[in-house]
Amino acid sequence: MAKVSVGLRGWRFDEEEIFTDDGELKPLDEIPEGPRERLFRLVGLVEEPCDVCYLEYGESEVHRCNQAEIVYGEPNGEVLCCPEHEPDLIYWFREEGGSEHAGELEFGDRFHEWVAAGNGAPEGYGSVEHVDEDPDGLPDLPDQEEIQERVERDFEGDRIDILGLAGGEGGEADADDELSEDDFEDVDLSTDYPSNR
Ligand SMILES: [Zn+2]
Repeated sequence: MAKVSVGLRGWRFDEEEIFTDDGELKPLDEIPEGPRERLFRLVGLVEEPCDVCYLEYGESEVHRCNQAEIVYGEPNGEVLCCPEHEPDLIYWFREEGGSEHAGELEFGDRFHEWVAAGNGAPEGYGSVEHVDEDPDGLPDLPDQEEIQERVERDFEGDRIDILGLAGGEGGEADADDELSEDDFEDVDLSTDYPSNR
């Protein structure tokens, strides 16, 4: 089963789970819960800035941040990176204990704390070799913007169901309950970041 990324590099989907044989996005209620949750989440992430940039510049200079191209971690506990800062994440994951948090919602917070403490990858630390891990895993994809639009369209129609899913546990999903374009500016990045201590 081929693996594909949608919108952002990093999260991989089983192609057969989210696309029909014609390469169309499946109706959301036919997509298994796990990948569906990540698709929903992606809708709110694709235009967000890189977390490391954001920690550096903050909301007041958010225009200086690179847009994220990579997503790692679990939905609602993920890390967003631009290519320039991806080595920081890889270094943290491999060398600074980040891998211990794989699969946990704290994954993002732990990384953000590490970055906020002034850490980073050593100069020249290499980036991850995505393509080598799965050389056959990138089939021809429908246009990514089109996918995005389709997800958003279905997302709108399924909002009530989403709210049901999101309300299942924890109190941190509030900011995500109603994503709209107006919300992209301030959703998440403020709430998920480590607070000043
Ligand atoms: Zn960055």
